Amino acid sequence: PYIIEARNLIYDYPDGTRALNGMTMCIKEGQKVAVLGTNGAGKSTLFLHFNGILRPRQGAVLFNGQPVDYRHRSLIELRKNVGIVFQDPDNQLFSASVLQDVAFGPLNLGLDKNTALDRAHKAMEETEIDYLQNKPTHFLSYGQKKRVSIAGVLAMEPRVIVFDEPTACLDPRMAGKIMSLLQQLNKQGKTLVMSTHDVDLAYSWADYVYVLQRGRVAGEGTPREVFADR
Ligand code: ADP
Ligand code: ADP
Repeated sequence: PYIIEARNLIYDYPDGTRALNGMTMCIKEGQKVAVLGTNGAGKSTLFLHFNGILRPRQGAVLFNGQPVDYRHRSLIELRKNVGIVFQDPDNQLFSASVLQDVAFGPLNLGLDKNTALDRAHKAMEETEIDYLQNKPTHFLSYGQKKRVSIAGVLAMEPRVIVFDEPTACLDPRMAGKIMSLLQQLNKQGKTLVMSTHDVDLAYSWADYVYVLQRGRVAGEGTPREVFADR
């Protein structure tokens, strides 16, 4: 019944840092899951396991009940289903224009040009950036870049979208816009996973909360269970 499952993951970076140390997490389809944890707890490393960018040294990642197959073709399938919006949009944008950037994902997944452009236009409307389509991304504000990077992931039409601190570095108005977009996506049936430092946001937004510490889960439950003292 879980769309994503991480079972007892252990992951070491090449310099020997153990970033995941027995990480276990289950995500149900359609859920909004918040992942809390201080810097270095392992949130980003875990997320890179969800779509097979990183491969655990031990343990297993399952998508839709099936263990991830790390061969190239299967990984492309996985990445169609699990999209990651990175914290810093500059790491995700590199094309000459907004439209090209948003269409890059679907083109890269092998969709034909017309389908890719249709999806890009739909994603730009949802994120309210269609008026920017011909602009070079390096002229955009941070909040605009953030929405372009989200549109690029939406254009791939994944079933699960993982957001690494989506409201970090945004003013309250833009943060509010991003959160209402997430609400809208969840209503459409998307499964959403979000890391955040914002305990109030996690409490009010999530169906289920994980608290990470030193590469493993230190607490989990519904917001009421996890924040019983609130
Ligand atoms: P459903 O949407 O299937 O009715 P709920 O969200 O109401 O599920 O949760 C039912 C039970 O499952 C609760 O006890 C909750 O703590 C647990 N639960 C919900 N989501 C998760 C999850 N992602 N991982 C582990 N347990 C969960
Ligand atoms: P979070 O996203 O919760 O801040 P990370 O997953 O980024 O945590 O980091 C987990 C641990 O792995 C930290 O100790 C961090 O310093 C380390 N780490 C992250 N990326 C690298 C890397 N490329 N090389 C070595 N260590 C890393």
